[in-house]
Amino acid sequence: MAKQEDNFKKVISHAKEYGYVFQSSEIYDGLSAVYDYGQNGVELKKNIREYWWKAMVQLNDNIVGLDAAIFMHPTTWKASGHVDAFNDPLIDNKDSKKRYRADVLVEDYVAKIENKIEKEVKKAAKRFGDSFDKKQFLETNQRVVEYQEQATGILKRLGQSLEKEDLVDVKKLIEELDIACPMSGSKNWTDVKQFNLMFGTKLGANAESAMDLYLRPETAQGIFVNFLNVQKSGRMKIPFGIAQTGKAFRNEIVARQFIFRMREFEQMEMQFFIQPGTQKEWYEKWKENRMKWHLSLGMGEDNYRFHDHEKLAHYADAAADIEFRFPFGFKELEGIHSRTDFDLGSHEKFSGKKLQYFDPELNKNYVPYVLETSIGLDRMFLAVFSNSLQEEELENNTTRTVLKLPAVLAPTKAAILPLVKKDGLPDIAHAIIEDLRWDFNVKYDEKDAVGRRYRRQDANGTPFCITVDHQTKEDNTVTIRHRDSMEQERVAIADLKGIISKEVDMRSWLLKMK
Ligand code: ATP
Repeated sequence: MAKQEDNFKKVISHAKEYGYVFQSSEIYDGLSAVYDYGQNGVELKKNIREYWWKAMVQLNDNIVGLDAAIFMHPTTWKASGHVDAFNDPLIDNKDSKKRYRADVLVEDYVAKIENKIEKEVKKAAKRFGDSFDKKQFLETNQRVVEYQEQATGILKRLGQSLEKEDLVDVKKLIEELDIACPMSGSKNWTDVKQFNLMFGTKLGANAESAMDLYLRPETAQGIFVNFLNVQKSGRMKIPFGIAQTGKAFRNEIVARQFIFRMREFEQMEMQFFIQPGTQKEWYEKWKENRMKWHLSLGMGEDNYRFHDHEKLAHYADAAADIEFRFPFGFKELEGIHSRTDFDLGSHEKFSGKKLQYFDPELNKNYVPYVLETSIGLDRMFLAVFSNSLQEEELENNTTRTVLKLPAVLAPTKAAILPLVKKDGLPDIAHAIIEDLRWDFNVKYDEKDAVGRRYRRQDANGTPFCITVDHQTKEDNTVTIRHRDSMEQERVAIADLKGIISKEVDMRSWLLKMK
């Protein structure tokens, strides 16, 4: 646990030191759970967004984009169920005065049981070597089976109590499991209460006529209310999707995990409109498709898993999370939800406008069903960033800190380094930059010895360093150093574009999804 915390602290301090993420309003001691992205962070974030947009919108014939406003008519949030049901169960510890999400306390307890299972698996894998059959072990090892049953039982009971809004039982469960406040160890809890997560604000200058608004807690509703606009103007035929990226706001009860849980964050969502009755099939397809997108980045299959929801949201008939192994354990990264006709049906009722589709195949009108994929851009940023940050032991008994970002997402693709600041080498370096910058984000770096510059670019996540030396003047070649292998090769300046493209172009990365 202590090691996990240490690693996470390293992630946060590296993000600050290298211009990726800063605490918001830091000079005023910061604003809790709000963050700013620095000069490198903004590039990484943009690259992740584009990687998603390419895969979801531009590479699909039947998915189009949208950019809806953050402010929406307040009735939207009555129709969507957010005014009545967008609550989290909160619980306070009377001694430490710390506030928690009751469901998260229970889930963290279950995560500890899951860690025990993982430990047993590792031990057995070591003991049995090549003949180890993980599936068989999980099904037959008495201790593991008991752990598994315990974990499933707890989650089931939590799901059912939340479903029935039985908050008394949620508290009872916390007491039965003997869960203590992680800060103080005290078990002196208040009752569990519901807390609405939407931020309210006002529209209009005049106090009497001002209208109560909400900052949107999800981007999805902007898509639903525009369903007919897009379908008609784009002559879209079901099945089709609408995708958008944008800010969302939630007054989170507990926000102590850096950019994992923020009060202002960005979502990348896609709503796929389908014939009623086909939702099971599309649910499976989109689960598979989204997992492939994650795996295309090469961050390790073992770092992802599906988690099917026990407790379904008011709008869903099936839901699963793609969980990622964050520095603090497996947690939700993306949700895939089968939302039925809840949203469009509800907006029909509240607006009095028909939100239906005439299906020429079935020769009838209906309210389409919806399959949603929803991922937090900031959470994806944290997944990529934390997984990439590594301390490497080198052969000469030194270590290096390297940010092994997938090259397609790296903020800077190449740093161009003149070996010395004289003899015309900086001019050649600048000329190379002038040429490459039309295709890639490249940076010039002449400060310090070249070895130090390599280390700096490693820590920055730059996949290539290109060094201009005296030989360059003779034969127009440079050395190119690869961040991950640290290998260097001598290549012609004219070949640089091709070499870099091969490693950083989205095409080769996204083709891995096929
Ligand atoms: P959680 O259970 O972690 O609160 P959620 O189930 O409420 O998440 P959704 O409403 O399904 O999340 O939102 C879709 C995605 O948006 C999540 O998978 C996550 O990546 C992202 N997300 C949700 N809340 C936050 C937040 N407060 N900060 C950053 N990202 C978030």
